[in-house]
Amino acid sequence: MAGQLDYHAMCEIFTRFQAAEPEPMGELDHVNAYTLVVAVALSAQATDVGVNRATRDLFKIADTPQKMLDLGEEGLIQHIKTIGLYRNKAKHVMKLSRILVEDYGGCVPNSRAALQSLPGVGRKTANVVLNMWWHYPAQAVDTHIFRVGNRSGIGPGRDVVAVERAIEDNVPVGFQRHAHHWLILHGRYTCKARKPACGTCLIRDLCLFEDKTL
Ligand code: SF4
Repeated sequence: MAGQLDYHAMCEIFTRFQAAEPEPMGELDHVNAYTLVVAVALSAQATDVGVNRATRDLFKIADTPQKMLDLGEEGLIQHIKTIGLYRNKAKHVMKLSRILVEDYGGCVPNSRAALQSLPGVGRKTANVVLNMWWHYPAQAVDTHIFRVGNRSGIGPGRDVVAVERAIEDNVPVGFQRHAHHWLILHGRYTCKARKPACGTCLIRDLCLFEDKTL
């Protein structure tokens, strides 16, 4: 695990990320807060591309909790059975849809605690929804951010909550909102798990990783 990069390095890194991609976007398709919650819940151990393929038709007919309940669990399964763990995920989506209808008037709550109380919604999912839908500067630490944070020194930590805190504490506030997308995209396309592309990495000179590739 690298040490924590200092303030000046963090400013420079995020200035470069911003210059390269001023408005980074998540890659999970959704049409409202509810479909974002469902898409993120479906995305555990699945690719965004695979989830988008499954939800393209699903969200045309079930873009609210009530419509999802009307579709029913078996109907939902027909749309998502190409996604890993689909039976469990279908159960969670039906349960959370019922709670949203019964307890929240069909709306998605916007506190981390309320989101995390929904079946199938963990801290990471709640942070994705807070960030992407409400533009709150939450850091949803996934496998990519965990790897990039620890290799580079942007957000070192032994577990995801420690990395989340390190990013919150050290990324200058003006960059906080987009930090999570910049880091996900950097991990997905450059700082890859098996063979990071250090030779073309735009933060190579600042990164603290000791085993950089050429
Ligand atoms: S230099 Fe290499 S290890 Fe460091 S952030 Fe870039 S790709 Fe990752």
